[in-house]
Amino acid sequence: MPIYEYRSVEKGCSHCSRGFDVIQNIKDEPLTECPQCGATVRRAVSRFSACVMETSGETASLEEKLSEYESEGKWSHAAELADKSGLNDRAMDNYKKAGYNF
Ligand SMILES: [Zn+2]
Repeated sequence: MPIYEYRSVEKGCSHCSRGFDVIQNIKDEPLTECPQCGATVRRAVSRFSACVMETSGETASLEEKLSEYESEGKWSHAAELADKSGLNDRAMDNYKKAGYNF
């Protein structure tokens, strides 16, 4: 389950003014109040979404590399990379362009 970080937007207690983590189901309503003092809290960037961003960063660089190979016409390189990355359709496409027949 994702971990959300909350921090008070007004003067809170020692618990919320420094920020605190809450493990919540993704479907749960976000907290609006500090459970200790009742100050208004706002959800900060969660570690969960930080993870998602890292992952999409990797995908972006893979996509970059693939496009680079494709634009240079290195179809077999692109196919191999796509194949290794689990992009089967993309791999097939590039294998075909590279002259492989299935
Ligand atoms: Zn508080």
